[in-house]
Amino acid sequence: MSTPGLKFTSEDYRGFLECVHCGLCLPSCPTYAENGNEADSPRGRIYLMKNVADGRLGISPTVARHLDLCLGCMACQTACPSGVHYGQLIEKARSVVEAQYSRPAVDRLLRRAMAAVLPYPTRLELALLPVRMLRAVGLGQVLESAWLRRLMPRKLQPTLSLVPVLPPLGSRHAPGEFVPAEGKRRYRVALLTGCVMSVLFSRTNQATARVLARNGCDVLVPRGQVCCGSLHLHMGFREEGLALARANLDAFSPDDVDAILINAAGCGAMMKEYDKLFAGDASCAARAESFTRKTKDMSEFLASIDLNTQFGEVKARAVYHDACHLAHAQKVRTQPRQLLQKIPGLELVPLAESDMCCGSAGPYNLVEPEMAQQLLQRKMDNLAKTGAQLVVTGNPGCILQIAQGVRERGLPMEVCHTVDVLDRAYQAARVSP
Ligand code: SF4
Ligand code: SF4
Repeated sequence: MSTPGLKFTSEDYRGFLECVHCGLCLPSCPTYAENGNEADSPRGRIYLMKNVADGRLGISPTVARHLDLCLGCMACQTACPSGVHYGQLIEKARSVVEAQYSRPAVDRLLRRAMAAVLPYPTRLELALLPVRMLRAVGLGQVLESAWLRRLMPRKLQPTLSLVPVLPPLGSRHAPGEFVPAEGKRRYRVALLTGCVMSVLFSRTNQATARVLARNGCDVLVPRGQVCCGSLHLHMGFREEGLALARANLDAFSPDDVDAILINAAGCGAMMKEYDKLFAGDASCAARAESFTRKTKDMSEFLASIDLNTQFGEVKARAVYHDACHLAHAQKVRTQPRQLLQKIPGLELVPLAESDMCCGSAGPYNLVEPEMAQQLLQRKMDNLAKTGAQLVVTGNPGCILQIAQGVRERGLPMEVCHTVDVLDRAYQAARVSP
């Protein structure tokens, strides 16, 4: 639900004024790097927002277009020496666009459908049933056929290529509500299993629980947890996003655990913003503050403890791709690399532009497929030069996007999550004599 009449506030306006137009963020902005258009740069977008706030511009199709094309990757926030909080500005701008701009009907429907399905695991599983059934009877290639694509709205056509090999139906309920520590208990942690993550990557969630247990963690998976709210908030559906975030505040008890962990970069970035989202809400501000304080990405947590290094060998040449919401939004860059470097046999080689967005960016590759494809091709050009067999990253959207690029180019590469590689190394230790 959008909020009619929603406008920029004086606080937002102060945020616009923090931008001194130096342009130092421009080279790191993926959309500007691709099309060289000032209005598709951070500085240009802030200028547009300020003009809307001043009443000099309305939310015309052109203004909406430049704001929609922003990936929300936060690379500009990393680059900005003036500390402009671009993430907060663009998120507010998206809500203003949804409130004030009437999108073409197909766009509106597509966005609404995504917001109604993706963040809800049962609905997402139902939506994927036809894919599962076609693959089960050996007709999976129908999904790649040109005639099926012609029947679909143009923007939806690339989505079919994104659907990965699906884990068994119902496996999202594993690892259950509690996984005990192996050996002496050192920590008690809570895990958010995510929406898309739990449906498409339930195996990675199970690997996460195993890796944590191997490190002496009792792992709680609280009932009542839901999507972190980021999909809604990034599309400008603020009220729905806040409702989901509030449900998570009710489901988790931050004071009873050492950490609240997450293995999806986009969700972690949002959970670390709960304190700001609810700062003015006396009913839950304190709880949101302790929730945020306890939230950590898996790699951040594992790199901060005395890691169990009883690894077996994982013989592979690997590269690490920085998910935007881990590197730029959470500033977690060194920790996943440190963990991977501890695995015997794994050769970690550099990747050019490793922190340049791959085009996934939450629901971006579904609503802006052209720019998403351009950025994917740029990422694939860089990946192809490395000769890596493993592409490791910390976000489900990046895994889907890069795996699509790998399939299209026929590269001999596997794309997986950092925690999958750690789990593989622990499993290898179990089988080695
Ligand atoms: S969030 Fe990313 S795409 Fe958007 S302006 Fe900043 S760098 Fe560019
Ligand atoms: S956002 Fe920051 S880096 Fe970019 S133009 Fe403004 S002040 Fe400069």
